[in-house]
Amino acid sequence: MARTFNIVCIPGDGIGVDITEAAVQVLTTLEKTFGTFNFKFDTLDWSSKKYRERGYYAPEGGIEALKKYDAIYFGAVGWPDVPDHISLWQMILPIRTTLNQYANVRPTRILPGTVSPLSGCAADPSALDWVIVRENSEGEYSGHGGVTPSSAHAAHTVATEVSIFTRAGIERIFRFAFETALTRPRKLLTMVTKSNAQRHGMVLWDAIFYEVAKEYEGRVKYDKMLVDAMTVRMVMRPQSLDTIVATNLHADILSDLAAALSGSIGIAPSSNLDPTREFPSMFEPIHGSAPDIAGQGIANPIGAFWSAAEMVRWLAGADGASNSEGIVQGGGVGNMVQAADCLMQAIANVTEKGVKTRDLGGQSGTKAVTDAVCEEIGNVY
Ligand code: ATP
Ligand code: MG
Repeated sequence: MARTFNIVCIPGDGIGVDITEAAVQVLTTLEKTFGTFNFKFDTLDWSSKKYRERGYYAPEGGIEALKKYDAIYFGAVGWPDVPDHISLWQMILPIRTTLNQYANVRPTRILPGTVSPLSGCAADPSALDWVIVRENSEGEYSGHGGVTPSSAHAAHTVATEVSIFTRAGIERIFRFAFETALTRPRKLLTMVTKSNAQRHGMVLWDAIFYEVAKEYEGRVKYDKMLVDAMTVRMVMRPQSLDTIVATNLHADILSDLAAALSGSIGIAPSSNLDPTREFPSMFEPIHGSAPDIAGQGIANPIGAFWSAAEMVRWLAGADGASNSEGIVQGGGVGNMVQAADCLMQAIANVTEKGVKTRDLGGQSGTKAVTDAVCEEIGNVY
C-alpha cells in the first residue's frame, strides 16, 4: 500500500505563492507517476499580508502544531512594507529552533542549457557542483545582544550583536558535513572560518573541526578557508570545491554567491533539516518573495522543484533508511530516492530543451515550465 506523507505548505508572499502552487502540481504528478507514495497537503496563510491585518505571522501554538506533519514546504516570506527582521524573528527562526532544524543544506549545480556568469563554466558545467552545509541554529544569528540606551535615536547609542558558538552545536554540524561529504563522489570537505580576525568563537570552531576530522581520516579529504579568500576561490577555482561547511552568516552569504554563479537565484534549493528526525524538516527555495516580479506569472519555479526533490529524498529515509546523521542510505521508502532522481532529471531535460524563465535567458512563464517538467517526469519514469 502506498505510504502517505502529511505535508504542510506555507506559501507566504509574492512569488512564494506562485512557486508553491507549481511545486504542489509537480509533487502530485510525481506521486501519480510512481504510485508508491502519496502526499496530503495542508496550507497555512502565514504571510506579511496577514501580519498587516492581524499583527502576527504564526498564531499562538501554530509553530508547535507543525510537529504533527512529516515535512514543511515553504515558499517565501517578506514584503516591502514589513521590515524583514519581523518575519525572520517571528516565524522563520522560531520554526528552525522549535523543530531542531540545525542543518541547512544548499546544493548548487549548473543546469544543462543554462549559462553561468563564470565563463569557464559555460564550457564545462560540471566545474561547479557543490553542497553548502550551513550551521542553522546559533553563531551570528543567535539573537543575543541589545541596544543601549534603548532609544535608537539617542546620542552615544551602542548596539551589540553577540555570536554564540557551543561545542555541541559545532560538533553536530561538522559531523553532518563530513557525513554529507562521504555521500559525494569526490569526498572533499572545505571548512570556512574567520579565525584570523575573530578570536573566540571562530577559534573554537576551527579546533573542533580538526577534532571531528580525525573520525573521518582517510575517508574524507578536507581543507580550511578564510571566508574572504573563499569568495575568490568560488569564482576563480570552482572545480576545486565540493562540500562546504560554514557558519550561519558566512554560509548565508556564500550560498547566495553560489546561486548567482550557477546562473540564477531562481534555481537554488535549500533544506532545513532536523538530522535526528524527531521533528519535521523544512524545504524552500533560497530566493525571497521578489516583489518586483510577483503576480506576473514569470517566476522561475525550478528552485521550488529542486527543493521538492530534496524533500522527497529526505522523506525516503523516514522509516530509518538513513544513518545517524540523517543521510538517506539506499532506496528508502516507496522508491522515493528514484522519484527524487526522476524529478531532477526532468528539470535538467526541460532546461536543456530551452524551456526557461527570463532570469535564465528564456521566454517561458512559470506555468509553461511547470507543465513541461510534469510531462518530462512521465518520459523519464
Ligand atoms: P526577500 O527580502 O524576500 O529575500 P529580496 O528582495 O531579497 O526578497 P529575492 O526574492 O531574494 O529578493 O531575489 C532578488 C531578485 O532576484 C528578485 O527581485 C527577482 O528579480 C530575482 N528573483 C528571485 N527569485 C526569482 C525567481 N524564482 N525567478 C525569477 N527571478 C527571481
Ligand atoms: Mg533576500
